[in-house]
Amino acid sequence: MQASKRISNILGGGSDGWEVFLRARQMIASGTPVTELTIGEHDIRTAAPILQEMHRTAMAGHTGYAAVPGIDSLRDAVAARVQAQSGVPTTRGNVIITPGGQAALFAAHSAVLDPGDTALYIDPYYATYPGTLRAASGTPVAVQARASDAFQPRAADIAALAAGAKSLLVNSPNNPTGVVYSRETLQGIAEVCQTHDLWLISDEVYDTQIWEGAHLSPRALDGMAERTLVVGSMSKSHAMTGSRIGWIVGPEDMIEHLTNLATHTTYGVAGFIQDAALFALAQGADFETQIAEPFRRRRDIALDILRAQNVVKSVPNGGAMYMMLDISATGMDGEAFANALLDAHHIATMPGESFGAAAAGHIRVAMTIEDNAFATAMQTLCDFAKSRT
Ligand code: PLP
Repeated sequence: MQASKRISNILGGGSDGWEVFLRARQMIASGTPVTELTIGEHDIRTAAPILQEMHRTAMAGHTGYAAVPGIDSLRDAVAARVQAQSGVPTTRGNVIITPGGQAALFAAHSAVLDPGDTALYIDPYYATYPGTLRAASGTPVAVQARASDAFQPRAADIAALAAGAKSLLVNSPNNPTGVVYSRETLQGIAEVCQTHDLWLISDEVYDTQIWEGAHLSPRALDGMAERTLVVGSMSKSHAMTGSRIGWIVGPEDMIEHLTNLATHTTYGVAGFIQDAALFALAQGADFETQIAEPFRRRRDIALDILRAQNVVKSVPNGGAMYMMLDISATGMDGEAFANALLDAHHIATMPGESFGAAAAGHIRVAMTIEDNAFATAMQTLCDFAKSRT
């Protein structure tokens, strides 16, 4: 018996770029300690009061089927949060709660793509993007952002591939680069979407991890609210990766379609997880700042170390828990460098090439280990790069 073409082709036949990561995990399994700067997961666990609330509400009986688009109180809280942040009038009818941002990305693309439709996304990209677009029966087409533009995508490059496309997926603050798109970049993206009648899927799961300025959602730009689906998540903002809780914000008719999709796929999100999410959101901005703080601190630590040398260059990173480092002065590509660093110093990073062709010659560092260990790893990485020039 054969699996469907759609599901067999999710990975698109290429390498998924996780070889260095898997090799590091094998080393760990065989007893070799490895400093892992690979995965976008906090080094803290979900805060105890959030777990206590989850426990309380489950014990109180919120363990049955919950409303498919999400419980009203959580939809209201997400709408209020998004409206306060973006200034765009947003109500419960604009919000569906999803089991995490990843499920939201799949659902959003399922809602806008017909089989075979071209779905644009920006390279460098979060590793699941092309597979998610294929899973939603689209044809992924990458628009290369340029290292020389600090990975801010050019509107003209998007426009050149936009004829006949149905959607564009963007992510700011960005994984893997840590780049925050400027107002000018987002304005250019908005104009291309309007000229070419594209849906914009805006992945904003790092909206609380901004190191300079404030988060700008492209949904807030003129003429964009009716053609934008915003993907949100509490994984990164509230250190709730395992709770699988996120949302899509968009036009009401699309939320109704998405509710139909959820009825036939996930059947919603566990009520006790939603109650815990509501409780977590109610902790307010100070709590979110506290969760983001270690990454802000480690970014400063890394920038100090990088300033003291001139081999490894940082892509200007204004947000998210990652740094994209240009190691091309070593003459190695990202994969060779990451493998050599793993072998020589047992430090695991992600090759830029894991995130698309545009990030070749780079490595991505996740700032997800304790400060002193992070500083030591960054210093070792820079010294190693120097030794290879
Ligand atoms: N989008 C981006 C850019 C991410 O980096 C991630 C996770 O790392 C996700 C979406 C999915 O997050 P989750 O499904 O945990 O909400």
